[in-house]
Amino acid sequence: MSMTIGITGGIGSGKSAVTDRFASLGITVVDADLAARVVVEPGRPALQAIAEHFGADILQADGSLDRAALRRIVFADPAQREWLEQLTHPLIGEEIRAQLAASRSPYAILSSPLLLESSSQRELAELVVVVDVPEEVQLARTMDRDANDEAQVRRIMAAQLPREERLALADIVVDNSGPLEALDDIVAELHKEFLHRAEEQRL
Ligand code: ADP
Repeated sequence: MSMTIGITGGIGSGKSAVTDRFASLGITVVDADLAARVVVEPGRPALQAIAEHFGADILQADGSLDRAALRRIVFADPAQREWLEQLTHPLIGEEIRAQLAASRSPYAILSSPLLLESSSQRELAELVVVVDVPEEVQLARTMDRDANDEAQVRRIMAAQLPREERLALADIVVDNSGPLEALDDIVAELHKEFLHRAEEQRL
């Protein structure tokens, strides 16, 4: 498996903006949020288990998971949330590891909003990059991107690691408070550094 660099940051900090640029340079980007969707796709054992546990009403007409309905249940009931996490977390971890193992780029990126909260994800990463902006910028950009109101975004932010704690756990901080174009040079520099590091590890 190639060297894995973890990238994290709060909602709207610019993780996708950063990882898109690594992907353009030919680097494999494994997205933990996408992996979490894959493990509950139709035909996967987890979806069967969820339908048995919550009832077939949790499925949409086409057999796929009604994610909004599931979210409503588990946000209202911590015990159900725990049941769901015990089912899905190991599977998400397996999916992430399989995607990283399939990577053929000199190093790979694991992008996850929960990188620092999940020890099993954290231990996959050789280095942790935190994409950082002030909270007011995070709020404004997220509200711009999503059709969420301020209270909703603030609730999501409050459920995530506080900015200072995240920064304290970073090996590398990407300051994304500048214009989008500034990320091109920042990512190009990091790419050089990671290639160098990956090369050294192979020797
Ligand atoms: P995340 O993946 O961390 O949730 P995104 O990469 O989706 O964040 O960025 C959130 C929003 O802010 C997106 O609409 C994105 O295009 C925009 N954005 C990201 N970085 C910048 C920047 N430096 N300047 C202006 N807008 C940005």
